[in-house]
Amino acid sequence: AKEQGRNSFQYFTDELNLAAHEWLSIENGLHQALERNELFLLYQPQIDLKSRRLIGVEALIRWRHPERGLIMPDKFIPIAEQSGLIVNLGRWCLDTACRQIRAWDSENFYVPRVAVNISARHVRNSRISEDVCAALAAHGVEPGRIGIEITEHTLLENVDTISHTLNDMHRRGTYLALDDFGTGYSSLGYLKLLPVDELKIDRSFIRGVAERDDDIAIVKAVIALGKTLGKKVLAEGVENFEQAGVLEALGCDAIQGYLVAKPLSSVEVKSWTAPPLPF
Ligand code: C2E
Ligand code: CA
Ligand code: CA
Ligand code: CA
Repeated sequence: AKEQGRNSFQYFTDELNLAAHEWLSIENGLHQALERNELFLLYQPQIDLKSRRLIGVEALIRWRHPERGLIMPDKFIPIAEQSGLIVNLGRWCLDTACRQIRAWDSENFYVPRVAVNISARHVRNSRISEDVCAALAAHGVEPGRIGIEITEHTLLENVDTISHTLNDMHRRGTYLALDDFGTGYSSLGYLKLLPVDELKIDRSFIRGVAERDDDIAIVKAVIALGKTLGKKVLAEGVENFEQAGVLEALGCDAIQGYLVAKPLSSVEVKSWTAPPLPF
């Protein structure tokens, strides 16, 4: 038994070493990724459910690693959060999104808005407002054409600072969305205090919206809440016509998901067409 204990301990530390090594390798690699242009953005269309028009795209980051190939954000965003690099990454996303808006404009392709995912850490250190301004100014882009997506649960800490920063950005015209809405804890109390334009219902509730009573009830409640507070409601992760039909019947404003399009390159976005919604 003693022998076995040692072995499993050995195994455990090997696993830990491997994880620590992997972590460090990604953290070091990220510094270089920013310098060597290994990061890029894909853009996922969002449509208005009534007009079926493109209202914007969400920018989703990817890492083309020289040896490991394509790395998805789930692998490196948490590491960037821990190391503080997430702020540099956020700045890079804002700058790249603004440059892309300008490029599309010059090609006579109009994308109303690009939504960028921003970490709470970036909002909390209160530089985000200046960073958004700098990116807009550098590319001559109007504030309303950039959206910021912040996850709901991260807003619970330092509510005063965060609300001040968000108000500053909002006053200048930047569109604000609460991401993954419904997965955090009750932020309902100060939802009315925050200058939020949009509630983005998390995919986990959309999955069952055509079948499960509990998911339907939650989605219904979020839509009603949005309406009462004067906010737009967008459903993420919409994959089929049944879900889109239920959402439209419930009065949801907008949808995003594989039914509309998967995340696309800046070139692919230009040939995107709306799905033939049967309602
Ligand atoms: P998120 O903000 O909730 O982004 C939506 C994720 O769902 C994306 O995964 C997208 O590709 C995926 N998705 C979109 N439509 C569907 C669908 O119909 N079905 C399913 N099953 N999935 C769908 P992705 O691109 O892997 O991003 C994962 C997460 O990484 C994002 O979740 C976001 O939290 C984070 N992330 C992505 N890009 C950035 C970034 O530039 N900065 C920061 N801070 N975080 C980012
Ligand atoms: Ca998002
Ligand atoms: Ca989301
Ligand atoms: Ca989500």
